[in-house]
Amino acid sequence: MLLELKQIGKTFGGIKALTDVNFTLDEGQILGLIGPNGAGKTTIFNMITGIFAPTTGSITFGRTNLVQMAPHKITGLGIARTFQNIRLFGHMSALENVKVGMHPVTASGFWSSLLRLPGQKREEARVLERALQLLEFVGLAEFADVRSDSLAYGQQRRLEIARALATSPKLLLLDEPAAGMIEAETQDLMELIRKIRDQGTTVLLVEHDMPLVMNLCDKVVCINFGVKIAEGEPSEIQNHPDVIEAYLGKE
Ligand code: ATP
Repeated sequence: MLLELKQIGKTFGGIKALTDVNFTLDEGQILGLIGPNGAGKTTIFNMITGIFAPTTGSITFGRTNLVQMAPHKITGLGIARTFQNIRLFGHMSALENVKVGMHPVTASGFWSSLLRLPGQKREEARVLERALQLLEFVGLAEFADVRSDSLAYGQQRRLEIARALATSPKLLLLDEPAAGMIEAETQDLMELIRKIRDQGTTVLLVEHDMPLVMNLCDKVVCINFGVKIAEGEPSEIQNHPDVIEAYLGKE
């Protein structure tokens, strides 16, 4: 088991955003996390990545308890994410955006960049090679020198994924990667996520595009009003009466 959320609760002021949520994610799986707007999906991502601590419960990655751990330490353990809204550096090229992802901001990294320590040239060549590989991997090699804000929307989304992969994560969290995409872009995205899994990265996917979730995921967890209402294979979830009701509302 790669990730385990046990009895996770989160309260913001008086609002209960999550109550006793449990699920596990095995290595090599693609797990879909679905639920209506405001269900608590992004809050789960924020807790896994250390932005908020859960009010109750535990989050374990491998054998490590993530609760109270700083976000950069969690990144260092091998967890990366993308965000619901595109967060690229628009004025920078596609290549530079990926290179930024390879330089976690640490005190030693800051000082060595000022001092130009020996071996730095070799390190720069390694970073360049890896960034180019990642652009190739997400199908953007020919756009390496293009400003990221002039890329098409679907390309910007893929660039964000390349940047998240720059830390070579064991677990990748994708927050609504298909939002705003046209059908052809969604198809490309589906292929890319499969490729990411096939090269050894486990994926946790928050997504509203149900055909994408149902085609891609090995397992799906559905939450509604902060409570897990269903968990299972896509075929079970698709026909689950509580899931249908959560999405369509009562007659
Ligand atoms: P969407 O699909 O719309 O992105 P979601 O399932 O990701 O929704 P969350 O963003 O996790 O939902 O929000 C869950 C609940 O927690 C909502 O009621 C939201 O208003 C509340 N919430 C989330 N973050 C905060 C915060 N920082 N402060 C206060 N309330 C918050």
